[in-house]
Amino acid sequence: MGIVVFMDSPKTLLEAIQYFSDEQVCINTVAEMRWADGKPKCPDCWTKEPYYIKTQKRWKCRECRRQFSVKVGTIFEDSPISLTKWLPALWLLSNCKNGISSYEIARDLGVTQKTGWFMLQRLRLVLKEINMGTKFGSNDGGEVEVDEAFIGGKLKNMHRKRANALNKVKMGAGYATSVKHENKTAVVGILDRESRRVRAQVIPDVKRETLQTQILDNVKFGSSVYTDQAVAYDTLHRRYIHETVNHVETYVRGRVHTNGLENFWSLLKRNLAGTYVAVEPFHLDRYLDEQMFRFNNRATKDNPLNDSDRFMLALSQVANRRLTYAELTGKVGERAAF
Ligand SMILES: [Zn+2]
Repeated sequence: MGIVVFMDSPKTLLEAIQYFSDEQVCINTVAEMRWADGKPKCPDCWTKEPYYIKTQKRWKCRECRRQFSVKVGTIFEDSPISLTKWLPALWLLSNCKNGISSYEIARDLGVTQKTGWFMLQRLRLVLKEINMGTKFGSNDGGEVEVDEAFIGGKLKNMHRKRANALNKVKMGAGYATSVKHENKTAVVGILDRESRRVRAQVIPDVKRETLQTQILDNVKFGSSVYTDQAVAYDTLHRRYIHETVNHVETYVRGRVHTNGLENFWSLLKRNLAGTYVAVEPFHLDRYLDEQMFRFNNRATKDNPLNDSDRFMLALSQVANRRLTYAELTGKVGERAAF
């Protein structure tokens, strides 16, 4: 079935909605992407080539006789929502540059807004990058940008004057402890100039120890690291070629700048301010995963990915990822309706 699936696989959103309106097509596509060799296996005993019971759209294991659907062991497990809704939702989330809200999902797919919200939360987990083990930069001066951002609060309404004043305080010696970003969540971003990939995650504070741990964990010794002039970065020169950017005066000094990350932050803030009504700090990591997926898999000269490629990549990540209703809401014992 594999080759047929890929031959007429959709290229646009309109084609995707049409194509995935057939549940059997959805099942075939998910099966193709979730099992490493594209062939169904029993989730209990791993026996291959189970019988397919067409009327029930389920497989039956030849060995242990267990019956299972394509959703078992994936993010879709236990969901009563049909794959004919899940797959277009994943298409939208992996490809909409400015994000997609639960209201849009509700309207486009005919579910409630609440269901749309839960679907998106699960799908954001699918977009999370797995291979976080490799470090950015290189031992011979590979270029890496590091910058922090503060998300939430009333940032988007903040008057320019006050924003400038904050920036100036940030330059001062006591930055890490004296500036209070109330109601805001700190995020650190690291960008590898060579691969053009970003890693961003929520951090508890912007103290020296916190930021340096992030850099040591993610950047190879000997890399060129570009940051702003916050004191939290003042000991980086021990392991890195450290150069700083003065945001107020010379915005760009040759190759020393953090404009790649600025671009990532502005996309993130636009999405959070526009598409997403309110984001609790608790959920921010998931929005970062979503933003990173689209940013790190955007089309470039060397890597001309299209919407279909991004969707298939996302779909290849649905197995072994679970997000229960209790984990999402803290309400234990309630049954998910999404
Ligand atoms: Zn079995």
